[in-house]
Amino acid sequence: MDLVVLIAKDMALGIGGVVSFTTVDYPSHIAAVVFLQGCCWRCGYCHNPHLQMLSARDAILWKDVLGLLKKRVGFIEAVVFSGGEPLVQESLPAAVADVRQIGLLVGLHTAGAVPEMLAAIVPQLDWVGFDVKYVFDEYALVTGVDGSGARARESLRILLDSNVSLEVRITLCEQITAEKLMEIVREISSMGVRALVLQKCRDKNENVVEHSVFSDKLLWEEASTYFDRLCMR
Ligand code: SF4
Repeated sequence: MDLVVLIAKDMALGIGGVVSFTTVDYPSHIAAVVFLQGCCWRCGYCHNPHLQMLSARDAILWKDVLGLLKKRVGFIEAVVFSGGEPLVQESLPAAVADVRQIGLLVGLHTAGAVPEMLAAIVPQLDWVGFDVKYVFDEYALVTGVDGSGARARESLRILLDSNVSLEVRITLCEQITAEKLMEIVREISSMGVRALVLQKCRDKNENVVEHSVFSDKLLWEEASTYFDRLCMR
């Protein structure tokens, strides 16, 4: 598949859903999550395939979501834009500005598919959870899209060059062998990543996909030497 950067142009923010209270989506803060429609990649393990299309099944208006968030100020401390890939939504900068204006922190879950959009909004972000999918030069093996790795690498560079608080994670899908994991570890470590979260991958039935790092103490120890902090969740 060729790289197609889908951007929802000239249309309202495409919202797939809202979670009004979460303690696990923004570190150390109570947050709401706004799930945005659209993703230009096609990872086999995607748990939100209904969000891959740009258009939402049901129309959820941003002004209504913002009204809800305003009422929650004091209960929540942050809003996380998630997806899908939030960066494909052209109205994202305006939504980020709205959230800042009501005094909440702004978080972003992204895989970095649209670095141009990321560069535009990163000064307005407080925290980013960034998913590294695979060795950058072979990203299409996971994302199904040629050129996706170059975009992800550029996005990670933008984040590392910014002041934003950053969590880098890798989902341990079946394509990530022990050898490939160490390639990724060396690659992102050389770029300046100092902390890494390894996430257990779950299949469509929510069963954990086994990975050698679960039982390979030497692999874990070797990976640990590249970071100040390495953890698994
Ligand atoms: S980048 Fe994320 S939202 Fe897009 S297909 Fe992959 S897992 Fe799904």
